[in-house]
Amino acid sequence: MTRTLTEDSATPAADLPPILKLAREKALTRGEGLSQEETLRVLQLPDEHIEDLLALAHEVRLRWCGEEIETEGIISLKTGGCPEDCHFCSQSGLFESPVRSAWLDIPALIDAAKQTAKTGATEFCIVAAVKGPDERLLSQLEQAVAAIHAEVDINIAASIGILTQEQVDRLAKAGVHRYNHNLETARSYFPQVVTTHSWEDRHDTLQLVREAGMEVCCGGILGMGESLEQRAEFAIDLQELDPTEVPMNFLDPRPGTPFAGREPMPAADALRAIGAFRLALPKTILRFAGGRELTLGDLGAEKGLLGGINAIIVGNYLTTLGRPAEQDLDMLGKIRLPIKALNASV
Ligand code: SF4
Repeated sequence: MTRTLTEDSATPAADLPPILKLAREKALTRGEGLSQEETLRVLQLPDEHIEDLLALAHEVRLRWCGEEIETEGIISLKTGGCPEDCHFCSQSGLFESPVRSAWLDIPALIDAAKQTAKTGATEFCIVAAVKGPDERLLSQLEQAVAAIHAEVDINIAASIGILTQEQVDRLAKAGVHRYNHNLETARSYFPQVVTTHSWEDRHDTLQLVREAGMEVCCGGILGMGESLEQRAEFAIDLQELDPTEVPMNFLDPRPGTPFAGREPMPAADALRAIGAFRLALPKTILRFAGGRELTLGDLGAEKGLLGGINAIIVGNYLTTLGRPAEQDLDMLGKIRLPIKALNASV
C-alpha cells in the first residue's frame, strides 16, 4: 500500500487553516486549481502547517494523477556557448562559467537512450544550449530521433529553445512526443533574469508546440529572487498555459553566473512551493528537476514525492551532478511509489 502523509499530518481536518480547507474542496474534490491570491496564501502558510499542506498536495496528486512516478533521462546534444544571458545558466557563453562547449554524435545519443530505457524511464529528453536551433542542430536532432525510435522503446522529448512554425512542424513530423521550453519565472520578474529575449518569445513557441500536437512541458526555476507574489503569479502563468508537465527547478547558484552569489532557497520555502504548485495545478505532471539535492537533500526529496511531485529526472542533470539513477530508483522503492511504465503512457 502506498504511504501517504495524511496519517502523519498533525492537524485534524476541522482545525486546518482556512486556505487548506478551501484547497481541499477546490483542488481535491473538484480538481480545480487555486487562484493566484489563493496560491499566495498557501505560499505564506506558517511552518507548522507545511506537513498539512504536503499531505493535502499528495492526496490531490493521487486523486487526479494516480500513484505512479514518471521517470525521465536527459542528455545534452550541445552543451555551453549559448548566446543568451539567462542569469542562472552556466551554459551561457556570456559568463565566465566552467561549462565548455561540446557536441554529442548520434551513436552517443542512441547509447544514452538505451541506458535511460534500462532504468525504466519512459521519457528521454534531448536538450541543446541554444537560443533556437540552426539547420545543423535541427537536422541532427531529426536523425537522432529516427535512429533512437528504430532501436529503443522510449518516448523522445526535446528542448532546443525558441522555434519558428517550420521548425515546430519538422519536430512534430520527426515524432518528438513532448517539447520542453521553460518560462523560467513569472512574467513580471523575467526581465530581471533574462535580457536577450522576452517571456513572450518563449510563450509564443509554447503555443506553436501545442498547436502542432506535441505535449507541452514548461516550468522554471524557483528561488531566483522573485517575491512570493511573483511565485504565485508564475504558478498561475503555468495554470493558464496548461502544460502536460511542469519541471520544478530550485536555483543552484552556479559559479561565474550573475546569480552565483544568491543563497539557495530555504527548504521550508521549497516545500511550500511544491505544495502550492500542486494545488494550483492539480492534474499536471510535476517533475523534480535541478537543484533539489542542494535545496532539499534526501529527506526533502522524499517529502516532495509524498507532497505533490509525481515525476523525477533520473541520473545527472545538465550542468551539475545529480545522483546516480539507482539511488533515485531505490528511493522510490523505499517510499513505495510505483514507476510509470512506457505502455501506460503512450
Ligand atoms: S537557459 Fe537556455 S537559452 Fe538561457 S543561457 Fe542557458 S542554454 Fe541559453
